[in-house]
Amino acid sequence: MGDINMNKTTDFDAIVIGSGISGGYAAMELCTKGYKTLVLERGRMVQHGEYPTAHMDTWDLPNRNKVSLEEVEKHYPKQNRLNWWVNEDNKHWIAKDDENPYNEDSRFDWIRGYHVGGRSIMWGRQCYRWSDIDFEANLKEGVAVDWPIRYADIAPWYDYVETFVGVAGQAEGLKQIPDGVFLKPFQLNCVEQKFRETVAETYPERVVTPGRVAHLTEYKPEVHKGTRGQCQSRNRCWRGCPFGAYFSSVSATLPVATETGNLTVRPDSIVMEILYDPSSKKASGVRIKDATSGEIIDFTARIIFCNASTVATAAILLNSRSETFPNGLGNTSGELGHNLMDHHYGMGASGTLPGHEDDYYQGRKPTGFYIPRFTNIDEQTKQPDYIRGFGYQGGAARITNNPEGVVGEDLKAVVLSPGPYRVGMTCFGEMLPYHENRVYLDFDQRDPHGLPMLTFDAKLRDNEMKLRAHGVKCAVEMLEAAGCVDIQSYNSLTAPGACIHEMGTARMGHDPKTSVLNKWNQMHDVPNVFVTDGACMTSSGTQNPSITYMALTARAVDYAHKQIQAGKL
Ligand SMILES: Cc1cc2nc3c(=O)[nH]c(=O)nc-3n(C[C@H](O)[C@H](O)[C@H](O)COP(=O)(O)OP(=O)(O)OC[C@H]3O[C@@H](n4cnc5c(N)ncnc54)[C@H](O)[C@@H]3O)c2cc1C
Ligand code: SF4
Repeated sequence: MGDINMNKTTDFDAIVIGSGISGGYAAMELCTKGYKTLVLERGRMVQHGEYPTAHMDTWDLPNRNKVSLEEVEKHYPKQNRLNWWVNEDNKHWIAKDDENPYNEDSRFDWIRGYHVGGRSIMWGRQCYRWSDIDFEANLKEGVAVDWPIRYADIAPWYDYVETFVGVAGQAEGLKQIPDGVFLKPFQLNCVEQKFRETVAETYPERVVTPGRVAHLTEYKPEVHKGTRGQCQSRNRCWRGCPFGAYFSSVSATLPVATETGNLTVRPDSIVMEILYDPSSKKASGVRIKDATSGEIIDFTARIIFCNASTVATAAILLNSRSETFPNGLGNTSGELGHNLMDHHYGMGASGTLPGHEDDYYQGRKPTGFYIPRFTNIDEQTKQPDYIRGFGYQGGAARITNNPEGVVGEDLKAVVLSPGPYRVGMTCFGEMLPYHENRVYLDFDQRDPHGLPMLTFDAKLRDNEMKLRAHGVKCAVEMLEAAGCVDIQSYNSLTAPGACIHEMGTARMGHDPKTSVLNKWNQMHDVPNVFVTDGACMTSSGTQNPSITYMALTARAVDYAHKQIQAGKL
């Protein structure tokens, strides 16, 4: 990333809170437009290439990639609730629960990482555009408030960010996930292709397409700036990619921002609150606590972008109390912290597809297939008992042939002998924005940094339950249609948060009385504060959301820049 400027300057043109997917994007856009920009990041410094386990094989890891029960209980009891997420190869990217506690009136699995790059290092890289089916749904169904934008407002910004990010995908002409600027897709393997064809014969509206992912299947140096390179299909992405082949803040946006000479990244800087100046009716700056020295420092800037992620942004804004805003900055609507959403999953099915025992494929591609939402997208697909829908992520792989107690030559022979393939898919369901689902601050209790204790109160409700049951049924139907045998389905309720797609705590809307942000992600109440992480989302859709945060971020920076040029900000 180049030199990190830790000078003593405290006045900047712009401050960005958080260096993850959306913060990195905001920083790059601001810096390339000439703004001296300070990125405040609560976690440690990480430069591209500092991925300690990226080149290790399982046998290089002292505990064969396992983390002891004792360590999980001490440091990751909430982070590892799903029992698969914390491993030896990635635990250094995961926030420790004992050092960063939160409370739950009802369970919320808040899974996150505190370091430069945030979750852009650990994300699954799936990228799907939203459509007007999503942007119009609240208005049509009388749910929550209307989105203040439509697809036409964001489409050029999807083009813009996809060009830079590099998204591998296949055009399908579907109205529910519009096609984008794609690099060549990771091909479906032979069994996935067969699955696509057989599903289409029975259910033409259910499309099995290669996962659309932020990987450079074609490296074009003129647009893929930063420290990027061609994807090698080694599928170890969650450890960090030394080739810079998938998009992250540390491989892409922050290096470009650094090259401008306008970027200052300050790690170990826990943002406590945004400071409000009642005379100018604007935010004057940001107060941090240095995580290593404990020093409290104020930084000032003309504009502030909040990108600490949905929940952390809500916490910072709720803690920014003043005479003008006693319930949190820009919270005259009372909606700050409310309408918390996530996608919900833990339901799906798998089955064995006979007939491909002698088929092979090469490489370890880092994605499988995606089946976009196919219910409630028009009159023909309308469901009687729930609104919105679900999509699936899945794949087909040869069943691992690794029997207990077999070693050496015998093991090699068994492992190398062909066998059947299994097709599996997990359903990702939309969650509605309920005012009652929220995160709030308990000012009577303090965390280890002296900040009020973050507390969750959110749950899935009736619409989600009905949608889940149908998602499982449709998965089984597709496997049956493809000729699978030994089909097994599951519907184990996960808590909100577990899908790691939190959204909605400072929603966009037309009306300052019912929403926190306007159509430009700008606070209705405080015009020089922009929120462009998942907090801004007015509904949750079914698509993985991060590419939408990036598009909204680039759009908001462009708007702020034009406002400043016009002397209005
Ligand atoms: C395993 C996994 C798989 C995922 N797969 C996908 C996927 O396939 N597709 C998809 O779209 N999304 C996926 N996601 C979700 C995706 O990572 C998030 O949507 C995205 O990272 C959110 O971006 P952000 O900028 O809002 O926050 P983050 O990337 O989380 O970054 C927030 C940053 O702010 C910092 N911060 C927090 N609080 C403060 C504070 N008080 N002061 C200063 N800094 C602060 C954090 O340390 C962090 O660096 C996945 C996430 C995980 C963990
Ligand atoms: S699959 Fe591609 S992006 Fe992932 S670690 Fe390998 S080279 Fe990097």
